[in-house]
Amino acid sequence: MTLDQSQAAPTSTPSADSAPGPARVPGVPVIEGGMLISTNPATGAVVGSFPVATPEDIAAAVARAREASAWWAGLGFAERRARLLRWTSLLANRIQGIAEVISSEGGKPVPEAIVEIFAAVEHASWAARNASRVLKLRKIRGALMLVEHAAYLEYQPFGVIGVIGPWNYPIFTPMGSIAYALAAGNAVVFKPSEYTPAVGKLIADTFAEVVPEHPVLQTVYGKGDVGHALTQSGVDKVAFTGSTATGKKIMAACAANLTPVLLECGGKDAMIVDADADLDAAAAAATWGGLTNAGQTCIGIERVYAVDSVHDAFVERLVANAGRLKVGVDEDSDIGPITMPAQIETIRRHIGDALDRGGRAAMGGMDAVKAPYVYPTILVDVPEDSAAVREETFGPTLTVTRVADADEAVRMANAIPYGLGGAVFGKRNAMRLARGLRSGMTSINSTLVFAGVPSLPFGGVGDSGIGRIHGADGLREFTRPKAITKRRMRSVLPAMSFERTPKQVELLKRVVRTVYGRKG
Ligand code: NDP
Repeated sequence: MTLDQSQAAPTSTPSADSAPGPARVPGVPVIEGGMLISTNPATGAVVGSFPVATPEDIAAAVARAREASAWWAGLGFAERRARLLRWTSLLANRIQGIAEVISSEGGKPVPEAIVEIFAAVEHASWAARNASRVLKLRKIRGALMLVEHAAYLEYQPFGVIGVIGPWNYPIFTPMGSIAYALAAGNAVVFKPSEYTPAVGKLIADTFAEVVPEHPVLQTVYGKGDVGHALTQSGVDKVAFTGSTATGKKIMAACAANLTPVLLECGGKDAMIVDADADLDAAAAAATWGGLTNAGQTCIGIERVYAVDSVHDAFVERLVANAGRLKVGVDEDSDIGPITMPAQIETIRRHIGDALDRGGRAAMGGMDAVKAPYVYPTILVDVPEDSAAVREETFGPTLTVTRVADADEAVRMANAIPYGLGGAVFGKRNAMRLARGLRSGMTSINSTLVFAGVPSLPFGGVGDSGIGRIHGADGLREFTRPKAITKRRMRSVLPAMSFERTPKQVELLKRVVRTVYGRKG
């Protein structure tokens, strides 16, 4: 399905009808005649074609963004908020058309795309409404030794942010950077994944409808080399969401110019099922958390650790739940195709390795891989050092491991370099276990929901990344803190001055002893 152009953007979003040539290899983007052509991963139908940016195009886009950023920052919080809320309202009103574009380009069922857009809109709205409160100039408490000086703090925009996005949530993930960067007063140059350029274009075109004066948000298209060129283009910060391997390359490339980076990378999130968990709820949440978007979710649950006393009953419920899901491209499908054909080999390798090494498929298995689809696969008794437990699978698969108790589950969950999200199902010890998981976010008695709460920060530890999007921390991520002091009276005890007298130094000594010395 293609975007209803009357609904979506003033400048046309290329459609299957307008794009050149016949259907291509499903889901494999190609460049022909300087145009990036994106296709539907299930059918190969062309979704659109987009001009590939050269390094000169990118430099020009960043130069335009730099001028636009001064204008945008000068609008102030109130006007930016008004424009951003107009944008969210426009996105909300066009949700069906946008969901159809996301579905046709990435393969996810339309209802899943609707949930994604809803979450993106909530985040953009929160960023718009809260930027002033979090970032504006405020007076803060000063220091005893410098009581004659008032202290002020504000968070100023960087200027131009380069945003590089993945394909799996093509509006939600970039919005976590774009909306927060814009609300903070930056201009943005956005490089969407080569798999989802139509969604990238839609994001910039709809924003231009509410901010037509200057190119505050631009999109540049192409493959990884275009992303690399953006990191070298003089942007003031790079906000990247994608794999850990690419994140490392981006950090290395940015080191050359000391360009700051925000890295939202991969994960291998674990869920713990404790002895006092509601097993029906846990199984339903594991099914959604592990299999939504065909498992192509950075915070998707990929490993479950269930305590011995409930393990078998949990697996039984999980298999029953997952067995109800429909795989395909029909309107009522729950699981669509694997977006990136190359990922199918990784999924196949992980399943095969797990089975070869003594694991058992409680559901699915090698036969579940029927490109471009992978049917739900539940693996049990898989060794902890196998790829299916340690590496990001990014498919609709789950391992379930039996543990003696929930503390052992925490130890095993924490034993890999990734640390993005995670979940705990249980009652009495749930908060303690959630706090013990080495990750940026954990949900208790649900899966993935922290991503949908705009006031909470989102980001990983270890191989899962650096920095935070969402929430107040996410707004500050796109700013530089600016500290200011202002003398408000003559110095009674001039500490930071050569004008102090020996008598005043004596007095300073007495003050510091009186105030701080007695507590030691
Ligand atoms: P990739 O790392 O392959 O690509 C991400 C983006 O980086 C794409 O736009 C890609 O362009 C671009 N890129 C590739 N190489 C370079 C380079 N050398 N320099 C600059 N940019 C480059 O990730 P995927 O798109 O495959 O996304 C899936 C991954 O993203 C998973 O690991 C998933 O866990 C992670 N992810 C993390 C999230 C988080 O918030 N932590 C959220 C969502 C996904 P192109 O596509 O054209 O190659």
